Amino acid sequence: MDLNLTDITHATNRHPVALDAAASAATVASHRLAALSLSDVSHDYRNKRAVDHVSLSIGPGEIVCLVGPSGCGKSTLLRLSAGLETLQQGEVSVNGQVIARPGRSVPPEKRGIGLVFQDYALFPHLRVLDNVRFGLNRLPVAEQKERALAALRQVGMEAYANAFPDALSGGQQQRVALARAMAPKPAVLLLDEPFSGLDTRLRETVRDETLHVLKQSGAATMIVTHDPEEAMFLADRIALMRDGKLVQLGSPTALYTKPVDEFAASFFGEVNRLTGTVRGGRVDTPIGCLSAPGHAEGAAVAILIRPEGLRLSAVEQGLGSDGVPNLARVEASRLLGRASLVHLRVLDAEGRPHHMHARMPGHFLPADDTHVSVALDRQQAFIFPR
Ligand code: ADP
Repeated sequence: MDLNLTDITHATNRHPVALDAAASAATVASHRLAALSLSDVSHDYRNKRAVDHVSLSIGPGEIVCLVGPSGCGKSTLLRLSAGLETLQQGEVSVNGQVIARPGRSVPPEKRGIGLVFQDYALFPHLRVLDNVRFGLNRLPVAEQKERALAALRQVGMEAYANAFPDALSGGQQQRVALARAMAPKPAVLLLDEPFSGLDTRLRETVRDETLHVLKQSGAATMIVTHDPEEAMFLADRIALMRDGKLVQLGSPTALYTKPVDEFAASFFGEVNRLTGTVRGGRVDTPIGCLSAPGHAEGAAVAILIRPEGLRLSAVEQGLGSDGVPNLARVEASRLLGRASLVHLRVLDAEGRPHHMHARMPGHFLPADDTHVSVALDRQQAFIFPR
């Protein structure tokens, strides 16, 4: 059978209690293919549920970003995978070998997992080369040096092998931490907020370099980040969490264009939120009618529209260029750099005003109190039950 890893892991996500005698063929196959596999993992701190029935598999060479609001359980899931937290429920496997289940746990250093933390945790009294050699101490010294230098070369830090960590910039320390995690060639790399100690400019450069290094390494990588844009930049797949649960798992494109609920739609960027009622399979909004398949007649719904889903154009004598009078009054316009943000006031069928934001590429700055025509990109409008 030709199995697609993405489909399998989605299937695992839909059926979190998967590893029993009746496990499906697809689930068994996913565990064979996955480098890191978490199955029906839950975790409580005293009475507080931090991770709630999460199943997730990461294939070799794949980068999965865990995102979600602070406190949703991302770090706990990473720490359970690393063995820094004792597993209470579920199972963790690396390359098909169970490394943790309740009552049985392989120690962190024997899991074949490399770790990178937010603060890099380099030993200040050891030179860069010795920091990177640290996890290789079971190898002969000559081989340790060779492997450590090769890892430093991979992150472009070979020239700093004899430096001490405090002589390096934050970005350089981050690269050394990555080299140290990769030097033992682990099957799995776990990175917890690896760029949050860097300022904005440096962060963009370092994460770009890191992406290429991680892809070259071939390891299954789990990255915890609270930054949705960072997740979209880095991830092959994103795992969006809330209150300990996995809300949605899929490609960045899938999460952005097919969010499963209001939370998922709003997590990856600002949205305009309107409400309405389904009539005849459609819902009216001040900027056009949307079909509402799958929603019952009379259902109260929320309509979420991304600011870039509103296409504005100049109007002449009160009509849009297509002759349709979807008009909005401009309240303010601001150039944000690559895009312009236009604040609009639109009226619904009952004449009630609504404030909306439109984001237009480039320089589009209509004057305050003028009118613009609004067209709606229906791909960027989402309807959910209210
Ligand atoms: P995130 O990484 O998404 O910010 P965490 O996994 O750190 O979330 O935390 C999940 C929840 O568990 C939060 O409510 C947090 O307060 C709680 N928590 C985390 N670590 C501990 C701990 N050591 N003791 C008690 N509660 C904890």
